[in-house]
Amino acid sequence: MANNDIRVRFAPSPTGPLHIGGVRTALYNYLFAKKHNGKFILRIEDTDSGRFVAGTEEYINESLKWAGLKFDEGVTEGGDFGPYKQSQRKDIYKKYAFQLIENGWAYFAFDTTEQLETLRQQFESEKKRFSYNSTIRLSMTNSLTLSREETEKRVAEDENYVIRFKMPENYDVTAVDLIRGNLVVNTNSLDDKVLFKSSDQLPTYHLANIVDDYLMKISHVIRGEEWLPSLPLHVMLYKAFGWEDVMPIFAHLPLILKPNGKGKLSKRDGDKEGFPVFPLQYLSPDGEISNGYREAGYFPEAVVNLLALLGWNPGSDKELFSLEELIDLFDIDRVHKSGARFDPEKAKWFNHQYLINKDNKELADLFMPILKEKRIFNVEHNTLETIVGLVKERVNFISELWEQTSFFFCAPEKYDMNSVRKRWKEGIPEFMQNLSISYQEIESWEATTIKKATTNMITSAEQNFGVILNALRFIIVGGSFGPDLYTIIELIGKEETLKRIVTATNLFFKKE
Ligand code: GLU
Repeated sequence: MANNDIRVRFAPSPTGPLHIGGVRTALYNYLFAKKHNGKFILRIEDTDSGRFVAGTEEYINESLKWAGLKFDEGVTEGGDFGPYKQSQRKDIYKKYAFQLIENGWAYFAFDTTEQLETLRQQFESEKKRFSYNSTIRLSMTNSLTLSREETEKRVAEDENYVIRFKMPENYDVTAVDLIRGNLVVNTNSLDDKVLFKSSDQLPTYHLANIVDDYLMKISHVIRGEEWLPSLPLHVMLYKAFGWEDVMPIFAHLPLILKPNGKGKLSKRDGDKEGFPVFPLQYLSPDGEISNGYREAGYFPEAVVNLLALLGWNPGSDKELFSLEELIDLFDIDRVHKSGARFDPEKAKWFNHQYLINKDNKELADLFMPILKEKRIFNVEHNTLETIVGLVKERVNFISELWEQTSFFFCAPEKYDMNSVRKRWKEGIPEFMQNLSISYQEIESWEATTIKKATTNMITSAEQNFGVILNALRFIIVGGSFGPDLYTIIELIGKEETLKRIVTATNLFFKKE
């Protein structure tokens, strides 16, 4: 197959927000397409009107845009194989369903929902599972048991029917999966799936998916493991249509597992442990808000990077990859069979790596809106770049910068008096007063000169370095954290430093 014949699709259903597992499926399709100079297509599978959730198609589009995954063909991009939304292809599917009836691969079934429910309950009461399959179909109301005239009459009179696939009996279906190898499933374990419903004149997922993959000339179907049970039916549908020669190659991606490795990662895990499982924040139609990676402060490149490694092994210990590098390295043979455990701490680590690798100018730009919110307006961009450069190693998210830098912009609002009492040793107030005097005399206010003056003062007053520097940091920063103290003192300036020394000394020694 020539490379330009590689065509893959991401085919979400707008039935809710896209889980990060869906973003990963889209990413692997994207990487595969780009790696082989193929086409990456977005197809919206919205034939199940009962499960449709308003706004989720837009959500899917926005999420993939945020992740930087651009489609070559799709609802908004257009393309030669459109429309790319199944509800707009409604007229296409019926004829294919009828074709299968003509070939003897499908049949009309007229059983009502009530009849099926009664049977289901009857089976259940006998501790059996009801399955509309080859052992049952000849005792049901369908075109296999009714006369041709009766069937035609019912169809002509618009009686509700479904078209079911007539799964052959006792046949070993062999399906090939790029990740899992050969799979053999006997058809006796498969049921007669509904392919088309007359009630809404719409195909079900299985029929629409196969017909569209065929018509859109899809070469590879890369999708989540949850679709693996449908694979034998899909292979049989290709056979039934006589399209085996052009059947796509399948690859089913491993599940993304909960942090404890037990079961599929769900929204509930995220809610419980406080990490997002959706790319963007999602407001459900009933008003429930789910957290998103974007809103939690993740960079899209970090999320793409971490998703790329959730199920695929680059073949080395390297963990940080740009999208271009991923395209270059991606190899579907290196996708694992077993589930990939999601580690929320590792997700933060990825964001941290992307944050520290950004230049200080960009970080300052990203931090600026937070400063404005805090009503800090008078900071020079250069100074801000220096400040973020000093603390970036300490944060995972831009939103954490304020906590690490607020003392550069305003004096500590309150001190933890318990810590003060513990640190405040005899002689410190007098020392601080003298230190102020010596600071006043410094002409060139720089970390080095400040350090020299402070060191001289501590030595000549025979004070303990650790005690004094801890106390001074407390006065300036409001706690025992932050980057190099002399650099902080230089950056906040002489006047502000003296002010903080006076304020804190007075406050700590106020007689109660
Ligand atoms: N519409 C299916 C989904 O929502 C697509 C499955 C497939 O890729 O075949 O995931």
